[in-house]
Amino acid sequence: MPARRPASQRHRPRTRPRRPRRPRRDLPAGKQRRRGRLHRKPHHHRRAAPLREPRGAFPPRIPRPTRGLAPTDGVLGHGRGLRSRRRRPTTRPRHKSRAEVAVLNHDIAIIGAGVAGLATGWRLAQRGFDVGIFERDEPGSGASRAAAGMLAPTAEVKFGEGALLRLQRDSLARFGDFADELREASGVDIDYRTEGSLVVALEPDDTERLERIWAYQRELGLDARRLSGPAARDLEPRLAPSVHSAVLCPDDHQVDAWKLVDALTEAFTRAGGTLHTHTSVDAIARDHRRVRGLRLADTRCVEASTVVVAAGAWSGGILGVPELDKPTVRPVKGQALCLVDNDDAPLCRHVIRAPDAYLVPKNDGSIVVGATMEERGFDARLTAGGIFELLRGAWRAMPGIYDLELRDTWAGFRPISLDDAPLLGPSKIDGLWIASGHGRHGILLSAITGDVMSEAIAAGELPARYAAFAPTRFG
Ligand SMILES: Cc1cc2nc3c(=O)[nH]c(=O)nc-3n(C[C@H](O)[C@H](O)[C@H](O)COP(=O)(O)OP(=O)(O)OC[C@H]3O[C@@H](n4cnc5c(N)ncnc54)[C@H](O)[C@@H]3O)c2cc1C
Repeated sequence: MPARRPASQRHRPRTRPRRPRRPRRDLPAGKQRRRGRLHRKPHHHRRAAPLREPRGAFPPRIPRPTRGLAPTDGVLGHGRGLRSRRRRPTTRPRHKSRAEVAVLNHDIAIIGAGVAGLATGWRLAQRGFDVGIFERDEPGSGASRAAAGMLAPTAEVKFGEGALLRLQRDSLARFGDFADELREASGVDIDYRTEGSLVVALEPDDTERLERIWAYQRELGLDARRLSGPAARDLEPRLAPSVHSAVLCPDDHQVDAWKLVDALTEAFTRAGGTLHTHTSVDAIARDHRRVRGLRLADTRCVEASTVVVAAGAWSGGILGVPELDKPTVRPVKGQALCLVDNDDAPLCRHVIRAPDAYLVPKNDGSIVVGATMEERGFDARLTAGGIFELLRGAWRAMPGIYDLELRDTWAGFRPISLDDAPLLGPSKIDGLWIASGHGRHGILLSAITGDVMSEAIAAGELPARYAAFAPTRFG
C-alpha cells in the first residue's frame, strides 16, 4: 500500500478562481498568447490569402509552407463520415517549390472552349499563331452544347437592336462557307439547314404581336412573309388547327450545335492549336496593366502575351482583372428538351416558333424544344414547371408531339451582356481580349466571332466597323 502523502501535498480543491494572466504589452492584440500556447484560428476559419498580382518574376515565387502548421482535411473512414478529421504529417510540404511549378507557353491563351473560344482559336491557329485553349471541362460543356442551333436573326428580331441585327446578318451570310470550310478542315458536317422559320400565332393577342413584329421586319427590309392559318398548314400540315396566322422567315437557317462544337474542336487541333481540357483557369496574371499569362487551378502557370476571355456566362468571374475592367456578363438560364420522332415522315421541316416554345427538327429525327429564359444565377436545376411549360407550348402548336419519346432534358446558361450585344475586342488591360456576352445568339454569331477576333488580334485593334461591340463601350 503506497505511503500516505503529507497533508500539505494532498490535493485540495481550489477555492478561488485562477487569476487571468495579464496580456503582454509588446504583442498586438491578435498575437497574445493564451494559456501558454500561440492561439491560431482553426484552419477552416482562416481566410484564404488574397490573390496578389505578381511583382517581378513570373511565374510567381511560391511561398514555402510554415513549419509546424498542421492543416487538417476531411477524410472518410471509421464510420465517422466527413466530420472525422486527421492531422497530416507536419513535415510534408504543401506547395511545390518555384523550380517545380510547370510553365506552359503560348502566343495566345484562350479561356473557354465554347463556340466563341473555339472559333477564335481556330481562326488564330490558321493565321499561324501558337494558340492554347484552356477548358475546365469538355469543349461545349457550357452553353454551346445546350443550344438549339437556330441561326434566326429575322424571327428573333427585337426593336432597337439595329447594330446587333447587322452583325447577326453578317454572320449568317458567312455560314454557308463557314460550314463548308469546317467540313473540309474537320471532316464533320454540321447539318446546315436552310428551310427557314415559321412564327405562328395561336390567340388574337399573338396575332397582334406578330403583326407588329412583321411590320418592323419589313421596315428593316427583312424577308418576312405573312401567311394565313391554312397557308401555314400547307407548309407544315401537322400544325394545330388553332394556328391563326404565321410569318415565314425563309432567310433563317439552323445547324446542329453539338456537331458545330465537334467540328470546331477538330478544326482547331488540326490547324495546330492545343486544347487543354479539364484545366480550369483561376486567374489572369498581369504586371500592372499588361497581361503576362494565366494561373491554372492546378498551380501551373501559362506564359502568354495575349489572353482571350471566352468563358461564356463565367467570364466575369475570372480573378486577376480589376473589377471595373471585368466583362459584365450575367447567366440567363435556359431549360430545353429533346423529343424523338421515330416516324419516317418528320413531324415538321421548318423551325416552328410558337409563343411559348420553339421546335427545331434535326437531321437524326429528333426535335429540340426550347427554351425558358430565367434570371436564376447559376442554378442549373431542371424544374417541373419549366419542362411542363415547354411541352405545353410545343403541344399547343403541334399536338403530334404528344406521342413522341422524351429523350433528354437539360439546362444551360446564356452569357448576357448589359445591352444584349456581344463583347468583342480588346479590354483596357494591355493584351487582354474579350469574346463573350453572345447571349441568345452565340451559335449564330460563332462564324463572325472567329473572323472579327482573329482579325482584331492580328492587327492589334478592333476594326472600326465593329466599334459598337467593343467591351469598353460601357465606360
Ligand atoms: C437552352 C439554350 C438554347 C440556345 N439556343 C441557341 C440557338 O438556337 N441559337 C444561338 O445562336 N444561340 C443559342 N443559345 C445561346 C448560345 O448557346 C450561347 O450564346 C453560346 O453557346 C455562347 O458560347 P460561348 O463560347 O460564349 O460560351 P460557352 O459555350 O458557355 O463556353 C464557355 C466555356 O468556358 C468554360 N469555362 C468557364 N470558366 C472557365 C475557367 N475558369 N477555366 C476554364 N474554362 C472555363 C466553360 O466550361 C465553357 O465550356 C442557346 C443557349 C441556351 C442555354
